[in-house]
Amino acid sequence: MKYENMPTAQFIKESNNGNINYNDFYRKFFEKLKEADKKYNLLITQNTKKPTITKGKITALPLSVKDCICTRNIKTTAGSKILENYIPPFDATAIKKLKEQGGVIVGKTAQDEFGHGTFSTNCAYKIPKNPLDPKRSCGGSSGGAGGLVAALNMPHIAIAESTGGSISAPAAFTGTVGITPTYGRVSRYGLIDYANSLDKIGAMGKTVEDAALALNIMSGHDPMDETSINEKVPDFLTATKKDIKGMKLGVPKEYFSEKIDDKIKNIIWDKIKHLETLGATYEKCSLPTTKYTIPSYYIIAMCETSTNLAKFCGMRYGAAEDLKGRDFNEYFSDIRGKYLGEEAKRRIILGTYARMAGYRDQYYLKAMKVRTLIINDYKKAFKKYDCLVSPTMPFIAPKFKDIEKLTPVENYFADILTAGPNLAGIPMISVPAGTHQSMPVGMHILAGHMQEEKILQIAGATH
Ligand code: GLN
Repeated sequence: MKYENMPTAQFIKESNNGNINYNDFYRKFFEKLKEADKKYNLLITQNTKKPTITKGKITALPLSVKDCICTRNIKTTAGSKILENYIPPFDATAIKKLKEQGGVIVGKTAQDEFGHGTFSTNCAYKIPKNPLDPKRSCGGSSGGAGGLVAALNMPHIAIAESTGGSISAPAAFTGTVGITPTYGRVSRYGLIDYANSLDKIGAMGKTVEDAALALNIMSGHDPMDETSINEKVPDFLTATKKDIKGMKLGVPKEYFSEKIDDKIKNIIWDKIKHLETLGATYEKCSLPTTKYTIPSYYIIAMCETSTNLAKFCGMRYGAAEDLKGRDFNEYFSDIRGKYLGEEAKRRIILGTYARMAGYRDQYYLKAMKVRTLIINDYKKAFKKYDCLVSPTMPFIAPKFKDIEKLTPVENYFADILTAGPNLAGIPMISVPAGTHQSMPVGMHILAGHMQEEKILQIAGATH
């Protein structure tokens, strides 16, 4: 049987009908996985153990998992040296559900340390290279996930995470599909926190159907996560096939500003016109708070990460050493100084400052108030429109040599189109919309809370 380019649905069907020789399939799969990893630096840990096959909705389907998501008996570092030797004794709820349905964990994908980044260049291990042009970034922070989906022509879905755009960015840069669900739709139990009020587990695949399939399985209430939402999970796969006639699209003018590459804007407009021929209508609209999204996102994300990472002190979690006569403060700063990367340190320092007595009102509390205004902007828009559409990223995947020249603040501005929806906790999907300079361009589709079906409906129609 030829597995190359086999659609996931067909693989699962053949698998459930007993038509797949798993030894044969996995020998080939692991060969390709190793080759892709060697060429493009995509995995922190490979798991090429012979899989035990469980029957279910995704029988024997290979899954890669971003390294900030806990996998039982497989090293989970969140991309940090401070967790270099951490082997979780449990699976994150999302992973447990996928395994129960037959999913096979084939490896842990490379990422920015703790998810701190947009280009997967803030890495303590490997820096993933874009399989479409290895001089360019895969995007981040789920860079290994996006790169692996792009590099493998075998059945495979990548499980990833987004705090401020880490699924959308790599999807756009690698020409893949990335879905980030509503905050709380998928349990965060077993996800190593970056910024807990923002973190979401989602999925990346070659097709909209692959993203929907993974979401179908991972979604649902989990008593182990108090922020998980207790609502019925619809069938997301059905949504991908629904007619879009009569759907109303909003096109926010701020998402087509002069900061976005003109060629990219044209490609997205062509897609919008195409959706119009399929029966959707569109209207230009405005999200006036857009200019505040980057400052408020980064203040909130850094404040939260500075508290979430406090537990990695050399005593309670992660890397540890002998005290050797050092007092506790000396010891904690030695360990954190040695095992945390530059960007993690920058964010811990800035986040600690922004929530200090005296500065709290000026920074953290103000950012939280602005967040409410941003949420209200989207709420207002979704009273009128089913979905909002825009480019996913302001430019195509940048070259590493150009990323090096960016200051941290310039770096953060790459998230101008993704920080807003992530702050609001609304669902989003990035789908390939065309190419510019032979590199993929992603279209971003957003909808109101718990309206994943709508983004999947539009995404399905763009294919
Ligand atoms: N680029 C954003 C940041 O650095 C988003 C990262 C993420 O979603 N994990 O915070």
